[in-house]
Amino acid sequence: MEDNNFAGNAKGMVDFLGKEWNFDCLGCAITKREVQIPGGIIYDGKNAILGADPEIPIPGFLIINVKRHIRSFSQLDKEERNEIGNLIVYAERALKELKLVEEVTLVQEERSKHLHIWIFPNHHWMTEKFGKGITYLREISEYAKKNSNEEEIQKVLDTIEKIKTYFKEHNINE
Ligand SMILES: [Zn+2]
Repeated sequence: MEDNNFAGNAKGMVDFLGKEWNFDCLGCAITKREVQIPGGIIYDGKNAILGADPEIPIPGFLIINVKRHIRSFSQLDKEERNEIGNLIVYAERALKELKLVEEVTLVQEERSKHLHIWIFPNHHWMTEKFGKGITYLREISEYAKKNSNEEEIQKVLDTIEKIKTYFKEHNINE
C-alpha cells in the first residue's frame, strides 16, 4: 500500500457508520472535533483522546489519538507520556475486565504523520480464521470491514458504551 493511502495519512475516509469525512490530518481533525468518531469519545484527556477506530468495525478496537501534531513517542513531554501510559493501561484493563478479550496487540507506526496508538483486540475468531500475530492485522481489518452488518455495528457501539462506563468509574491518573 502506498504511504499516501496509509490510513494515518489519507485526506478522507468513510467511517463504519457510512459517514464521509475530509481533512488535512485525521489526528488534528479528531482533536479539533471536526471529525466525530463513531460512538463518540470514550476518554477526553488533556493530551490525548481515546475512541474506537473510525473505519474498522471490531468490538473493542480502540485508538489513542495524541492531541498535539507530532509523529513519535520520542517527542512526547513528561505530562503527555504519563497520560498516554495511563491511558494504555486503563484501555487494556477495560478490554480484559469487561471480558472482551484476553489479549491485545499495540501498534504505533511513525510513518503516520500524527501520533496515534492502535489497541487491537485479539478476538478468538481472528485466531481461528487467520492465525495469531501482527502479520494478520490488515487482513483481519479488511475482513471486518467487508463483513460488517447492522448487528455487528451495534455490537461495536455497545462495546464503546461499556468502555465509556468503565472510564467513568476509574480515575486513570491514580
Ligand atoms: Zn495532526
